[in-house]
Amino acid sequence: MTDDAIWQPLRVELARWADANRCARFWLRDDDAVRPTDALERLLALGNAHGVPLTLAVIPAHTGAALAVRLDDEDGVTVVVHGWSHENHAPENEKKQELGPHRPREVVLGQLREGRELIEDIFLRRYVPILVPPWNRIDPLLVQALPGLGFEALSVFGPVKAKHAAFLPVINTHVDLMDWHDTRGCRDHGELAAAIVKELQQRFAGGDEPIGILSHHLVHDQSAWAFLHDLFKMIAETPGARWVSPPELMVSPQD
Ligand SMILES: [Zn+2]
Repeated sequence: MTDDAIWQPLRVELARWADANRCARFWLRDDDAVRPTDALERLLALGNAHGVPLTLAVIPAHTGAALAVRLDDEDGVTVVVHGWSHENHAPENEKKQELGPHRPREVVLGQLREGRELIEDIFLRRYVPILVPPWNRIDPLLVQALPGLGFEALSVFGPVKAKHAAFLPVINTHVDLMDWHDTRGCRDHGELAAAIVKELQQRFAGGDEPIGILSHHLVHDQSAWAFLHDLFKMIAETPGARWVSPPELMVSPQD
């Protein structure tokens, strides 16, 4: 397929939104930042070039002032809390989890509290109190404690689950650029565009949840950068969609 054929279904869907005078909302969550790197520079440059607000899920235990200094003038960047140290505590035969039921509850919650406070201290006005659990997994029994630790929203992957939304607002991601199981590179562009079309179609039929695109700048191959570039460009060119940032979503999560 040519590039154009790959993107055509998404172009058509966005035109349908525009024709209906509707504007779909997208947000970009990029995980695992801890310090300034060449890959982060590339992400920031790409976001700035297309006016895309970026949400960086930063790992508290491994970050520091260097990243805060680098982000100081980046007005489009929001920083949220990515667990504590991104360590797996699940046994080898289970899916990876830092925030699972494998350790005493007080220990996990203590780290989450410390992580949130640390990110707030380091990133100040850039920080928004959203928890992004490493590997997008959290023990449901921990979720009810999150508001008490100062978190105002949770962000994982996929459709919003009632066992999360019962306790705090949930702002999820829905389309993950990377193929973690097979190539560990970017997924096929046609497959990604089709996944975005599917999310848009669900929302057109009813519902206005923002569509979360999930990226991991530290492991992007050329194909992942190319996909982000093409997506940013396409959304910039249509009145049928726009990018939003967490501060905007936190003010009016229901809109
Ligand atoms: Zn992560």
